[in-house]
Amino acid sequence: GKRAFIAGIADDNGYGWAIAKSLAAAGAEILVGTWVPALNIFETSLRRGKFDESRVLPDGSLMNITKVYPLDAVYDSLAEVPEDVKANKRYAGASNWTVQEVAESVKHDFGSIDILVHSLANGPEASFCFDYSFLSCFYLHRQVVVMPKRTITCNIAGGASVSLSYIASERIIPGYGGGMSSAKAALESDTKVLAFEAGRRHKIRVNTISAGPLRSRAAKAIGF
Ligand code: NAD
Repeated sequence: GKRAFIAGIADDNGYGWAIAKSLAAAGAEILVGTWVPALNIFETSLRRGKFDESRVLPDGSLMNITKVYPLDAVYDSLAEVPEDVKANKRYAGASNWTVQEVAESVKHDFGSIDILVHSLANGPEASFCFDYSFLSCFYLHRQVVVMPKRTITCNIAGGASVSLSYIASERIIPGYGGGMSSAKAALESDTKVLAFEAGRRHKIRVNTISAGPLRSRAAKAIGF
């Protein structure tokens, strides 16, 4: 079976959860990246069976999440994390949650993944994180410099990735502003470039889905 890492699940209401279920139903092993401040409550709810009803797959079995990793996708590596964040008590209990560290942990625990899902919330910071760096952390052994002059040394090839976009990238959706629409436009543009670059060089498929409206936590938070 395939192994999937889904970045951006902290409850059972969002796209990440739904995608995880579809992948699990298709036989994939599920690994999850959960925003650090939301990790505790997500893991506790999972353990206590709060999501059991929504874990039911079409064949009646329950979706199994093999491992949940703390993640803050705003930071590529530990060197980028400001002191006040490191010291923040919502972060202090967890470790190895920057993108590179999570990718290293996944590699250490499982070797490799086949599918990467980026389902991180509306914030421009998190949306912008779907770049070559994010992708290469998970798929490639080593990533050296930053786009657009990034050079890659790697020997893993193959795999697929998908992120979530929104129609506000191309049409005005009242209220979906403040950098969010432009972040989605950038995401779609980056997806094309990444699909070309990563696809041609490393046989990694890069796609984004322009998803319809869903009353997720992120959607409610911005009043949708
Ligand atoms: P959601 O709240 O279920 O998922 C977003 C997740 O991102 C949350 O679990 C949150 O904890 C996590 N997150 C936020 N910042 C993070 C960070 N820095 N590091 C790690 N995790 C972080 O909401 P959703 O609506 O399912 O959003 C998933 C994706 O779908 C987003 O990219 C969103 O823009 C996109 N989308 C949503 C809709 C919609 O109507 N809900 C429509 C189109 C596209």
